[in-house]
Amino acid sequence: MVKALRIRVVGVVQGVGFRPFIYRLATSLNLKGYVVNLGGSEVEIHIEGEKIEDFIKRMNLEKPPQAKILKVIVENIEPIGFDRFEIRESMRKATVRSMIPPDIAICEHCVEEVLNDNTRFHNYHWNSCAWCGPRFSMMYKIPYDRENTSMHVFKFCNECSYDYSNPNNIRRFHGQGISCPKCGPKTHVYDMDGLEVKVEDPLDFAVERILGGGILAVKGVGGYHIACLASRDDVVAELRFRKRRPMQPFALMARDYSIVQDIAIPPEGARELLESPQRPIVIMPRRGGAKVSELVAPGLNTIGVMLPYTAFQHLLLKRIPDGFLIMTSGNPRGKPMCRNLKQALRGLRGIVDYIIDHDREIVHRVDDSVIRFTDGEPTFLRRGRGYAPEWIETGIELRDSIAVGAELQTAGAVGFEDKVIVTQYIGDIDEAAQLEELDGELSWLIETYHLNPEIIAMDMHPLYSNRTLAENMSKRFNAKLIEVQHHHAHSASIMAEYGFKVEDTVVAIAIDGTGYGDDGGIWGGEVLLATYTSYRRIGSLKPFHLPGGDTAATYPVKPLISLMASTGYSWDEVNNILEKRGLMNTLPHGVKEANMTYMMAKSGRGALVTSIGRTLDALSAILGACTLRTYEGEPPMKLESIADGGREVPYKPRIIDVDGISRVDTTDLLKWVINGLESGYDVRDLAKTVLVNFGRALGIITLKAIKGARNIKQTVLASGGAAVNTHIIRGIKEALKEEGLEIRLPRKMPPGDGGVALGQLMIANCKLEYEGV
Ligand SMILES: [Zn+2]
Ligand SMILES: [Zn+2]
Repeated sequence: MVKALRIRVVGVVQGVGFRPFIYRLATSLNLKGYVVNLGGSEVEIHIEGEKIEDFIKRMNLEKPPQAKILKVIVENIEPIGFDRFEIRESMRKATVRSMIPPDIAICEHCVEEVLNDNTRFHNYHWNSCAWCGPRFSMMYKIPYDRENTSMHVFKFCNECSYDYSNPNNIRRFHGQGISCPKCGPKTHVYDMDGLEVKVEDPLDFAVERILGGGILAVKGVGGYHIACLASRDDVVAELRFRKRRPMQPFALMARDYSIVQDIAIPPEGARELLESPQRPIVIMPRRGGAKVSELVAPGLNTIGVMLPYTAFQHLLLKRIPDGFLIMTSGNPRGKPMCRNLKQALRGLRGIVDYIIDHDREIVHRVDDSVIRFTDGEPTFLRRGRGYAPEWIETGIELRDSIAVGAELQTAGAVGFEDKVIVTQYIGDIDEAAQLEELDGELSWLIETYHLNPEIIAMDMHPLYSNRTLAENMSKRFNAKLIEVQHHHAHSASIMAEYGFKVEDTVVAIAIDGTGYGDDGGIWGGEVLLATYTSYRRIGSLKPFHLPGGDTAATYPVKPLISLMASTGYSWDEVNNILEKRGLMNTLPHGVKEANMTYMMAKSGRGALVTSIGRTLDALSAILGACTLRTYEGEPPMKLESIADGGREVPYKPRIIDVDGISRVDTTDLLKWVINGLESGYDVRDLAKTVLVNFGRALGIITLKAIKGARNIKQTVLASGGAAVNTHIIRGIKEALKEEGLEIRLPRKMPPGDGGVALGQLMIANCKLEYEGV
């Protein structure tokens, strides 16, 4: 009997070969009707015929690997009498918005074709199909159709054209990005004067140069990498010298998972992430005795590794006997990663010897995503390729709105309906190029989704570079400008991620390097009682005066001296301790500068600081982990590395009351560490003990707040850049366990400043909606 169904499928069903799959399935079951993209993340299917039950069953079982079905709504309807099944044109109603698909790594089938000399894709560097390949990085606009991508200039050859329109070709039928050696992008080699180097095989050329110790730029999906051997100290040292990057770790790319196991100790869950279509860089403990040069990640006991995600990368890694290479972002110091030949020639001159290029335009720069494990849970350090710009649904109705994020390692966001799209990682917007890019990506999203922003949200910090951008946007759209406190934004970001509602009150622990406090101080060790519209600071660190402005973050000895001054040490004592620990010469002007810092701190000059970042800098200095910060987060990361090898020794954190707020007594902690050093404790044990006890103290403060108040959600949220520190998180968990409370960490967004834009949007929207602010 002929029956008919209207089926709406919600999930990741666009840009992943879902419609062609539905077409094949329906026709194989002799069903008639149509499938159409509804925009958003939905397709509508109309089927009529006899085997409609089989259809539903097989749709779930046999769907393309990248498709995710979240919801299926089935409706029985009257048959219409279609005579065939067809894929209908996407509906382009301005009101229906479709999700922008992120870039997906090459699938195993495409890799097989490239390796198999019996296919027409043999050795093809840029092979992809409906299930895999670049998406967002090559899109001019939505929906994801070939004419809207930078593939539009590559006209199909006869074979590709046939494959595209052949429903029996499972992976190429309606594959928007498909191509072959005949009709697709080609690989070229350029010297640094921009002249093409004529070579028979660019891959041979690349392999030869790299094995000879050369340093090359290689164009990938969202930008250029710098590729060279990771096993030779002289090569890595040369790269550090050329890139003027003395310490910051370089990412590696490994041929396959077995190589990853040779060089790292992957924690549980790492393999799944490494081999996922998102292919992030995963930070893992390094394996002792591996062939990886010590210079790849100096002072750290971890390395960041990813697996290949283009055919070219697979072919390249197969030819490298080590099985791994440095594949670090191809950017000039402080600037964004290059995304076209012109930028690479200018920006990477003096860094690389040659550029291995291809001629598919990169429309959006997308950096590799970086994930680490925090007490066993994967957390983002950087959210880019593979994840951005997927939206998250907040369950709260939002106005069209924009958030410009924070200042360092940041991203922006747009909101509409109940959705928030956080842009890909933009970087440090104190540089003009990154600020321009933030503007560009936000403007692109506004245009793409036809938004009329009513709200522009920005940080309270009076000196953030994106203030002008926010003010200009506010004028351009006649939109309300709303300031948001930094740690409140961190808290709201994770609230949104876990679907909290407007009426919910939570306790959020927001810990990081710097955020502008509403009292003008530098916050960063905060326990907040928060809703989307307000917050109350119930816990923090004991504040201390930190003179020195920006240099206070560069030289960890400065916060150390300041904290010692606040602890009550005399100058003579400070002088002695610094001399004894060999720290006096770590300041450019030595003892003079140290004394000046001490005197200023003592007399209450400099910002009032409650930042856990600066406090960990101080502890990192006294414990000899790091005395010069060459990249964001270096001193705490090195402190964590030392602590990894330590055992806890007894210490009970002291909590005091200052200005009616419970404070972690950091001066007590410092005094204890200095005494511990004097009595010959192992620095690793001291490092571990201070980190765990920071967490414990924050946990104790949290417990107190929850006990003393009603109607608070019994889940504690933790966010901020320091919330990725395993020892701190363990300390918090341990304290909370006493009352059976659990802690949630950000999973979809970075805990650091890459995630604050989401919180800014939520707060600004809710404040305007419920408080009229
Ligand atoms: Zn594929
Ligand atoms: Zn072709």
